[in-house]
Amino acid sequence: MPLHQGQQKPDAHSHRVNPFYGEANPVSGMIEAPPKHRLPDGPLPPTIAAQLVHDELMLDGNSRLNLATFVTTWMEPQAGLLMAECRDKNMIDKDEYPRTAELERRCVSMLADLWNAPDPSAAVGCSTTGSSEACMLAGMALKRRWAKRNADRYPGARPNLIMGVNVQVCWEKFCNFWEVEARQIPMEGDRFHLDPEAAAELCDENTIGVVGILGSTFDGSYEPIQELCAALDRLQERTGLDIPVHVDGASGAMVAPFIDEDLVWDFRLPRVSSINTSGHKYGLVYPGVGWALWRTAEELPEELVFRVNYLGGDMPTFALNFSRPGAQVVAQYYTFLRLGREGYRAVQQTTRDVARALAERVDCMGDFRLITRGDELPVFAFTTAPEVTTYDVFDVSRRMRESGWLLPAYTFPENREDLSVLRVVCRNGFSSDLADLFIEDLTRLLPELRRQPHPLTHDKDAATSFHH
Ligand SMILES: *Cc1c(COP(=O)(O)O)cnc(C)c1O
Repeated sequence: MPLHQGQQKPDAHSHRVNPFYGEANPVSGMIEAPPKHRLPDGPLPPTIAAQLVHDELMLDGNSRLNLATFVTTWMEPQAGLLMAECRDKNMIDKDEYPRTAELERRCVSMLADLWNAPDPSAAVGCSTTGSSEACMLAGMALKRRWAKRNADRYPGARPNLIMGVNVQVCWEKFCNFWEVEARQIPMEGDRFHLDPEAAAELCDENTIGVVGILGSTFDGSYEPIQELCAALDRLQERTGLDIPVHVDGASGAMVAPFIDEDLVWDFRLPRVSSINTSGHKYGLVYPGVGWALWRTAEELPEELVFRVNYLGGDMPTFALNFSRPGAQVVAQYYTFLRLGREGYRAVQQTTRDVARALAERVDCMGDFRLITRGDELPVFAFTTAPEVTTYDVFDVSRRMRESGWLLPAYTFPENREDLSVLRVVCRNGFSSDLADLFIEDLTRLLPELRRQPHPLTHDKDAATSFHH
C-alpha cells in the first residue's frame, strides 16, 4: 500500500452536506460535513454516511477503459452474490468453515492437474492474497532448501536468486525483505527478457533458484522456460550444481494451459519445482487471490508450515498473514466450475484475438513500432517509429487520458533505458467494440500530435503511471 502521510492541510469548516441527505438541523437547517482527517465526534445516520462515501467514489476511473492493469474488473453477478455470502468467512478458520477449506483444496488439485504435476496427489499448494505473497512463499522455500543443503556454510554464505531485469517488483521485494542477492540478467538489444545461457552463467553454489516469468510485465512476452531448464541441465552436467526453477506465472499460468497447449513450461519439466499465479488476473476473479504450488511436499520444507490449534483443528498452513477473506477463494472455485477448460479456452482466446487484432491496427498506423504483438500474453507494447520526432509515448499517454483511456507509458530498465513504450493489457471485457473506439481516439489524436513542435510532456511521471 502507498505509505500514507497524515493530514496535509486542515479541513475546510464551511462545508455543508446536501440538505436532501438527511433531516435538517433544527437550528441551522443544514448538516455540517463530518471532518475528513480525524474521527468524527459522533455517529451519522447510515444513509447519510453511505451517500457521502458513495459520492466520493464517483470520481474513481472507469475500470473498463483501464488498459494498464492485469487485474480482473468484471465478474458475473452470480460470483458477486457468492462473494457477498462469504464475506464473513475467515479463510484461516479451517475448522469453522470446513467447506470453504475444501473448496480451496479442490482449487489446488485442479491447478496441480492443469499444470501437469506428475502426481497431482503429491503436489502441495495454497491460496494467497495474490502472486506477490505466493512469490514470497516460493522464494522462502527455495532459500530454506538452499540453507539446509549448505548447513555447514550458512549463515556465513550469502544466498542469491537469478532473474531477468524485467521481473515484477515482487521479486525485488523478496530479495530485499529476505536478504537474498538479486542477480539480474540485463536486457540486450531486442531481447527484453531473460536469456537462458546468461542465467546459467550467473549461478554458483549460493544460488537458491532461477525465476522464469511466464508473461513479462514489461511487454507480455513469455520467457523461454524449457530452454532455461535445458541450460540448467547442462550446467548440472558440467558442475554438479542442481538449481531449481520457480515459474512466476502470475498471468501466463492461466493463459498458456488453455491456448498454448504445446508450450512446455510447467511441472512437465522436472526442474520446475514451484509455480505461482494470480487468481485475480487471468484466473478471472476479483482482486485478492493468488496461488502457490510445489511439485511435491519435498520442495516445501516442513519447518515452514505452521499448525495452530487455537481455532480448533490443526490444519497445516503456509502464509504470511493470518486472517484473510474466504470470498475470493470461493469465487475462484465458482469460476473453475462455471467455465471449465473449454470456457477458459474460449475466454482467453477471445481476449488474445482482440489483442492481436488491435496490435495489428496500431502497426498499420505507421507512426508506431510494435515491441510485442499480443500473441503470447494478450498484451502488447509499442513505441514511436524512429522518424517520429514531434511527440513521444508520454504525449500519447497524456492525450489518450483526455478520452478516458488509461494507457501507461514507461521506460524500459537498465541497458534499454533509451526505450520508452506504451503498453496495452487486454482483459476479458475489453471487447472488439472498445478496441474500435480506442483506434478511433488514437487516430483522431495523431494529426495534432504530428503538428507539435516537439514532445511536450515534461512531467512524465504525472502523465502516466506504470501498473505492474
Ligand atoms: C502481477 C504480477 C505479480 C504480482 O502479482 P499480484 O497478484 O499483483 O501480487 C508478480 N509477477 C508477475 C509476473 C506479475 O505480472
